[in-house]
Amino acid sequence: MKKLTSMILASALLAAVISGCSSGKSSGGDGGKEPQVGVAIYKFDDTFMTGVRNAITDASKGIATADIVDSQNSQPTQNDKVDLFITKGAKALVINPVDRTAAGVIIDKAKPKDIPVVFLNREPLPEDMKKWDKVYYVGAKAEESGTMSGQLIVDYWKAHPEADKNKDGVLQYVMLKGEPGHQDAELRTKFAIQAIEDAGIKVEKLAEDTAMWDRVKGQEKMAAFLAAHGDKIEAVFANNDDMALGAIEALKANGYFKDNKFMPVVGVDATAPALQALEDGTLLGTVLNDAKNQGKASITLASVLAKGETPTKDNVGYDITDNQYIWISYKKITKDNMADAK
Ligand code: BGC
Ligand code: CA
Repeated sequence: MKKLTSMILASALLAAVISGCSSGKSSGGDGGKEPQVGVAIYKFDDTFMTGVRNAITDASKGIATADIVDSQNSQPTQNDKVDLFITKGAKALVINPVDRTAAGVIIDKAKPKDIPVVFLNREPLPEDMKKWDKVYYVGAKAEESGTMSGQLIVDYWKAHPEADKNKDGVLQYVMLKGEPGHQDAELRTKFAIQAIEDAGIKVEKLAEDTAMWDRVKGQEKMAAFLAAHGDKIEAVFANNDDMALGAIEALKANGYFKDNKFMPVVGVDATAPALQALEDGTLLGTVLNDAKNQGKASITLASVLAKGETPTKDNVGYDITDNQYIWISYKKITKDNMADAK
């Protein structure tokens, strides 16, 4: 009887060991060949970053053991997570900072231990990038997405004379901004309007407010814009799709998108719900913010660095600019080329 119990125990132990080894975290750890990479996302509850996170998980298979954590939108929390990664022996870090100006603090933690850092989506200031040659940034050129979203509205304005509702030859718009200080919020806001002016169209800003990249806040802010300006609004710019989709909800509640009442709304990201809105004809256009390639480039670069190799186009698969930057291109998306974003 005793023998039987110990046999059962032994096989249970063996099963636990086997399942432990083949769990989602793949090999890695002691004896594994894949290097440990600590990945901290600014917050898990962000539609676009969820896409990037999934891309990191997919692309890590076979090249790195990615330990992905939620910084819960708190920089002190993220700093603690970085300390923990370092204690646990991470060989490289992928950091999506909560506050991009905190990059320097993270570099100061990693550099003395010779742990390379790849920043992602929230661009560190140039002076922080210069602190160490093993610091990288993977992202997209914010101004490019701003220009493209402006061009989407230009195309619509030119093709639809009725878009100038009050016939004053001026485009009256409202702007839903992302988180202030984020390069994508500042530059998309600026370059979207720049593109309208560059096309020779006069613009007038009726209102601008931050909705912090958030759908519910986008809806609330748009409802307030409609209450204040009503039918004077001729176009809606949103720095991302979630806010654009929130704005569309508010517009629907005000009678838009039926009985020939239309409002051009543009966003950025090309998330799945945004593509659905393009299909439905509520969202006019968006700009593909390529989560898949941003995630893949980050983890591939981190795995190369973790092995102590020098990153090149050959071993990473992406061009490296100024020895520290990987830029992923944006793309204009409308109903006509939606398939490119899927
Ligand atoms: C995306 C936003 C996202 C933000 C997070 C931006 O590039 O367009 O949707 O909320 O990054 O930092
Ligand atoms: Ca007008």
